[in-house]
Amino acid sequence: MTTIIQAALPVPLSQLFDYDHTDALPVGVRVRVPFGRRQLIGIVAGETATPDERFQRKAISEVLDSEPLWPQPLWQLLLWAADYYHYPLGEVLHHALPVLLRQGELANYQATIRYELTAAGQAVQLEELKRAIQQQRLLAALREAPLLSRDIRLHDYSPQALKTLQEKGWVVAVEHRPAPAQSWELKIAAEPLQLNPEQALAVAAISAGQGHQTFLLEGVTGSGKTEVYLQIIAEVLRRGQQVLVLVPEIGLTPQTLKRFQERFAVPIVMLHSALTDRERLDAWLDARGGHAAIIIGTRSAIFTPCKALGMIIVDEEHDTSLKQQEGFRYHARDLAVKRGYEEGVPVILGSATPSFETLNNALTKRYAHLQIRRRAGQAQPVQQVLLDIKNQPLKAGLSQPLLKLMGEHLAAGQQVLLFLNRRGFAPALMCHECGWLAQCRRCDAYYTVHQGSRQLLCHHCGAQQPLAVQCGDCGSTQLIGRGVGTEQLEQVLQEEFPEHTVLRIDRDSTRRKGSLQRYLQDAHDHKYSILVGTQMLAKGHHFPEVTLVALLDVDGALYSSDFRAAERLGQLYTQVAGRSGRASKTGTVVIQTHHPDHELIQELIHNGYHHFSTTALLERQLTQLPPFSYQALIRAEADEAAAAIDALAAMAGLFPQRDDLIVFGPIPAVMERRAGRYRYQLLVQTPHRSIRAQVLRYVLPQFEQLPQLRKVRWSLDVDPQDF
Ligand code: ADP
Ligand code: ZN
Ligand code: ZN
Repeated sequence: MTTIIQAALPVPLSQLFDYDHTDALPVGVRVRVPFGRRQLIGIVAGETATPDERFQRKAISEVLDSEPLWPQPLWQLLLWAADYYHYPLGEVLHHALPVLLRQGELANYQATIRYELTAAGQAVQLEELKRAIQQQRLLAALREAPLLSRDIRLHDYSPQALKTLQEKGWVVAVEHRPAPAQSWELKIAAEPLQLNPEQALAVAAISAGQGHQTFLLEGVTGSGKTEVYLQIIAEVLRRGQQVLVLVPEIGLTPQTLKRFQERFAVPIVMLHSALTDRERLDAWLDARGGHAAIIIGTRSAIFTPCKALGMIIVDEEHDTSLKQQEGFRYHARDLAVKRGYEEGVPVILGSATPSFETLNNALTKRYAHLQIRRRAGQAQPVQQVLLDIKNQPLKAGLSQPLLKLMGEHLAAGQQVLLFLNRRGFAPALMCHECGWLAQCRRCDAYYTVHQGSRQLLCHHCGAQQPLAVQCGDCGSTQLIGRGVGTEQLEQVLQEEFPEHTVLRIDRDSTRRKGSLQRYLQDAHDHKYSILVGTQMLAKGHHFPEVTLVALLDVDGALYSSDFRAAERLGQLYTQVAGRSGRASKTGTVVIQTHHPDHELIQELIHNGYHHFSTTALLERQLTQLPPFSYQALIRAEADEAAAAIDALAAMAGLFPQRDDLIVFGPIPAVMERRAGRYRYQLLVQTPHRSIRAQVLRYVLPQFEQLPQLRKVRWSLDVDPQDF
């Protein structure tokens, strides 16, 4: 009897597609199906008795798997993610698979063909083949050892000769499969450290838990969080279970891997961008088969199936790289917590500078809050210097006192690290002489500078003004609205310090694969004396010879329309300050600002991140911003501004009017024009997650009917991180 199978396909449509098949198929297996004139690889998502009769149904061409690709809890997570992010299930599933499986490769370790002599082949005299040199050569080689198909290519044996020898019955082809990594038992390679009381408490609290629970492990850099992970992992491994560890940037993973390898003599797989597709699939298979004990990877590793998952760890849980910024825009930390729930296992979120979302969950007791306040090793306290740069001459953003400090540290043979703003902070307009800021008349917010249209725009009410040329307070014409570019800075540094070398590390300079690792190594090896970077450089990197760190332009973050800018500044500052005192030399951290008295700056310097974050969190609560409300951002871009605006306005018109729903826009994106395209956005905000889900479920299907959408590229971002 024919079954009607519903398949999820990698197409940008949210529905499932019906296909005929001779038998029932388990949910989660791949099928090859006709779709239009193409053949696509889809995933069986169910069957139906009430198919969509508007279309003529076709049959499944091929079934690719005999069993589901994902264990049940992970399948549940994927279904949930498609629903939560309002992203087509077929695309979510596609995204969650290694590339080779997306392309229809079998979910097996690579099988190769091995050629061996038969008994008849052994008996043949080589002399008999003197007229067939190619066959003779091949037979002689096979006498020595069997050959793999790649050896045939490598040594240029004739495929024709091989075929002939097979036809004569002298050679057989045998399928050869490499054994998966061995099953493992726990071996502790190095002695664990003696835990301090706070670490011991954390380990005890986590191991006492039953089933799923989320823990925030908050501890300053160098407080020994990693040691806590290692000791907890030992317990999980002892039970024969696997551990999944998410880490932010791939530049970090070699260090982490080394520490794990030094401690545990078990199979560890690393999922990083330098793997070939085949290596990635093998790692995936190792994890799914239970052959890998520890799986370490960046955000997409959250989709790795595990046979016996015992724990998930998200290190540096505040890190923005955990959020996918295009296509399927998931947050790997949030998925980790959800997966922990589905799998019934504990989740540890570790950070020196927790995100406000996580912190709020800890403060409201949804997560258990474990703190390590003391530093484990001996670390020198850092010297903090707050430089008021109001009315100071600046060279590419560098003040004289900072240049002098740099000169001293460089002369002593040490390294200097300069941080520039995160790219794309929405800049406010500020007077360089008195610190005045252009403020919206209607809101308690600062205008954002839009250089392209030479306008000031309030991102909260939409009010516009031409770009002011004079300070509203002192009348000065020295208004600054834009951070200095890294390239200009690099040039000035070369002029100021001609005998020193400058290395710039940002997204642009590290686009090529492997270049980040190489730069980091060079920086570590003191091949450059001056390092310039964005906060990419702050993550977990440890440069022992850096003794001076400066944050050049923090005002942009204090007065940005991006409400997360202050949080990011606090994280950056704390990470940076935490690192510069690590080596034996005392570190100095400099902040340049026009607003040295700003409450958040003062909090950061005098009371530290924890205090800073709880204060800033209160502000979020007062203004009803996340995590006290829930947002979704609809972005649109087009060749003409009007097209993007029209499309978003038409979408906005479809939202229901209700008191607990704000739909704000269209307003221009911070970078209004990129690569010649105009970019606008629409912000949706509600006090409850469920309302957001309900409203989006109601409007999204209607979008497909809007003619205005044909001229634009648009996307939905649930829980947006960047504006
Ligand atoms: P974090 O992950 O919080 O940055 P680490 O775990 O890397 O901190 O610890 C920082 C340093 O302190 C490491 O060199 C580590 O070996 C050491 N360390 C951690 N815990 C202890 C401990 N209980 N006793 C002695 N040294 C420790
Ligand atoms: Zn306003
Ligand atoms: Zn002024």
